[in-house]
Amino acid sequence: MPPTDTTPEKDAAPLRGSAPGIRFEKVIKRFGSNTVLRELDFTVAPGERVTLIGPSGSGKTTILRLLMTLEKPDGGLIFVGDDPLWHMDRGGKRVPANQKHLHEMRKRIGMVFQQFNLFPNMNVLRNLTEGPMRVLGVPRDEAVERAKGLLDLVGLADKIDAHPSQLSGGQQQRVAIARALAMEPQVLLLDEVTSALDPELVVGVQDLLRDIARQSDLTLLCVTHEMTFAKDISDRVLMFDQGQIVEEGPPERMFGEPSEQRTRDFLQAVL
Ligand code: ADP
Repeated sequence: MPPTDTTPEKDAAPLRGSAPGIRFEKVIKRFGSNTVLRELDFTVAPGERVTLIGPSGSGKTTILRLLMTLEKPDGGLIFVGDDPLWHMDRGGKRVPANQKHLHEMRKRIGMVFQQFNLFPNMNVLRNLTEGPMRVLGVPRDEAVERAKGLLDLVGLADKIDAHPSQLSGGQQQRVAIARALAMEPQVLLLDEVTSALDPELVVGVQDLLRDIARQSDLTLLCVTHEMTFAKDISDRVLMFDQGQIVEEGPPERMFGEPSEQRTRDFLQAVL
């Protein structure tokens, strides 16, 4: 009998678990002649919390937008769990996944934006129930119950009838977080979620997200310029520059003893 190869596959383990992981394989993204991502490879394990740091314009938001299918890659593959966001035809050319597939993939992913992006003409309750009812087909009563529970979680039960314009920035961001969670995503993307907030509101929103991240098994990918928050919320930090990962590691090492000069320069400028 031939010997059995029992060596575990290098990439098999990170993609096991209840929440799906994320995998970028040689992803290229260009805007005109500007190549923003250059054959980018990285993996986020299921349930792992990863923060991307790096200079402005280095491509961090583009990574999140690609995952949300708001942008299309020019090369490579992006997986959420075992499924690619885009299909390749037999010649290796990227073809749009059919609408049904994209719709299914989008359901797995929630995103919280810098500018909240609440529906301005809807009250808080409807902001939280619209997506679950329309996209997921959740019955109204159930969507309302879920919304109430989430408003409790984010400390805004008394604002259920308010409109976004009646809320402070911090409250609007809490509603936006609740709205993302109302879709029961398996992957949560956070894009500079506190940079539009007044300084006194930042810590409250960060504490809320840290607690949610610790209590859930969500896979989390976060972009932030707030290094204390990055330290608090992450299992792993990726330093990103010019479309590629410069260095990665646990937050204690990345912030305590970074090994790359580019990371040291960046941290010196922001800390
Ligand atoms: P970061 O999040 O690290 O600040 P971004 O991903 O926002 O970086 O941007 C990376 C680069 O891509 C920048 O040079 C930016 O100008 C460019 N870019 C991003 N989105 C677009 C777009 N829609 N059209 C043209 N260029 C874009």
